[in-house]
Amino acid sequence: MQRFTLMFVVIATMGVACTQSEVPAPVTPDPRSHDFFSFANTDEFVNEHLQLDLRVDFEAEELQGSATLRLRRTASNATEVVLDTRELTIEDARFELPGGESVTATHRFGESQAILGTPLIIAVPDELQAAEELLLTIEYRTSPGATALQWLPPELTAGGEHPFLFSQSQAIHARSWVPLQDTPAVRITYDANIHTPPQLMAIMSANNDPDTERDGDYEFEMPQPIPPYLLALAVGNIYVAPIGDETGVYTEPELLEASAYEFADTQDMLDKAAAMFGPYQWGRYDLLILPPSFPYGGMENPRLSFITPSVLAGDRSLVSIIAHELAHSWSGNLVTNATWRDGWLNEGWTSYLEHRLMEVIYSEERAAELAVVDYRELLLDLEVVPLEQQALAPPFESGDPDDFQGIVPYHKGNLFLKYLEKSFGRDVFDEFIADYFGEFEFGTITSEVFLDYLDEKLLSAHPGIVSRSQAEHWLYQPGLPDTAPIPVSTSLDAAADFAWQWSQGEIDIADVPAADWSPQGMIHFINSLDADLSEEQLVELDTALGLSNTHNAEIGRTWFIQVAKRQFRPGYGKLDEYVNRYGRTRLVKPLYQALVENGVDATLAREMFERARGLYHPVTVTSVELILE
Ligand SMILES: [Zn+2]
Repeated sequence: MQRFTLMFVVIATMGVACTQSEVPAPVTPDPRSHDFFSFANTDEFVNEHLQLDLRVDFEAEELQGSATLRLRRTASNATEVVLDTRELTIEDARFELPGGESVTATHRFGESQAILGTPLIIAVPDELQAAEELLLTIEYRTSPGATALQWLPPELTAGGEHPFLFSQSQAIHARSWVPLQDTPAVRITYDANIHTPPQLMAIMSANNDPDTERDGDYEFEMPQPIPPYLLALAVGNIYVAPIGDETGVYTEPELLEASAYEFADTQDMLDKAAAMFGPYQWGRYDLLILPPSFPYGGMENPRLSFITPSVLAGDRSLVSIIAHELAHSWSGNLVTNATWRDGWLNEGWTSYLEHRLMEVIYSEERAAELAVVDYRELLLDLEVVPLEQQALAPPFESGDPDDFQGIVPYHKGNLFLKYLEKSFGRDVFDEFIADYFGEFEFGTITSEVFLDYLDEKLLSAHPGIVSRSQAEHWLYQPGLPDTAPIPVSTSLDAAADFAWQWSQGEIDIADVPAADWSPQGMIHFINSLDADLSEEQLVELDTALGLSNTHNAEIGRTWFIQVAKRQFRPGYGKLDEYVNRYGRTRLVKPLYQALVENGVDATLAREMFERARGLYHPVTVTSVELILE
């Protein structure tokens, strides 16, 4: 998932074909892992395949239908199947008998917990007490408040005429739309029949067919086993434009042309990633560009990354978010954290791969800029995050997994891997990367499994470089070890110098080589300006660099934070336009915050928010309301 820094990419071409491997068997959960965020009795039954048949009811804001789970028995004396649910209405549960008939099963709900939802306990009938494999069908419907499902009314879409539905199952929200074992420790294949209003189109994290007939009945198959948090569905006035042989972009017609242009290099990026990290194992790689109110940056749903439209800058300067979501095709989707306590295995690895991809696609300097930005963000975060949450593999047994996916697993995880790369040399570490993905592909692992593998393949194989206790320090101790690498960027240092010199009146604005900078360079320049600039200076700056009129959402975000902080009133009109253009939480929340915190504009912030809130997703509304209170 992409929640924090945005990366910036321009892409060259390189022709390496991606391949599709044989579909492997699902992997048995690691016995050393225990998932505190699931009720499922995965030590007795393991879900291997899921079949969905769901009707999408926009009026009721419900999914209605059935889920059939193929379960493998792993404990001979087990008499109940326990599944995760959240606010599901269960209408019927039945098992299929060996002859093909079915028998209704007794089911009941266990005790609900605020974060985890409600266990659904289903008794296995006597006839099946010796069965190795069980086929369990549950008829159910979701609730309008299902935490995974966002039902957008037409006015929150780009077109404004049709409703839109999208899911966000990570971390533990799949249980709010499917009764299942909602833990990344198990992997399932799935197939699905989705019924929608006939004018709308459904797509899933599965084998979407770009040529499918738009008739309201859609069939999907996902032959590669995935953790349940990667189950994904979107329904709306969605069309597709091809990008490359294996890539395409899905979105509303209003965004289709801009999206196809912006992400035209996705096929090249896929080819480059496959050349570096090993074969791309998922078949097609498509993008879904969501309506403007999508509150997140992106979500790595396999075969179909969900992406914010705020990266449609018109100049392909923000498409590197694709690098992050694409990298998850290896780290996270192919090799998965066994529990949410091991989230760095997904996000730290992905941040590392993303920076490696940026080097190849762009330049070492561009990757260094990103490393510096991430490092500063990490240092600031370590000042406020409680010590026990600063370890990569912390003792994390309660709370909300959504709250736990902060900056530490991303940036500290990335830094740990950079430290290993630096210590052992890139050639040795690259070999380790390829072996690691090969060893654990379509598997789920804990930090301890990773540590053992690291020890065997790298630490002990090349003794005297990094000790096991040094690696354990990264995993289990707060803060950063003394040996942590400190990223540097000469181009960002230069941008900061220009900001200082111009602020002091030593150079003219025309001498600032802004046209040569990456978006990160411009952002760093803006953030490095003297705190005491006059309004005349700000007007000169804004006019010369076109900051208030930028089409780059990240530069705009940085600039308008300064506009609010400095109470630069000539910029307030454009600031107001900005918060009405984007619904992504990362982009608008800090602007309201800067207005509230500048000491005089809290009322103005509330007024602006009241005008814009109808365009925002509830996730964004809630998080901005917290600030305005
Ligand atoms: Zn991510």
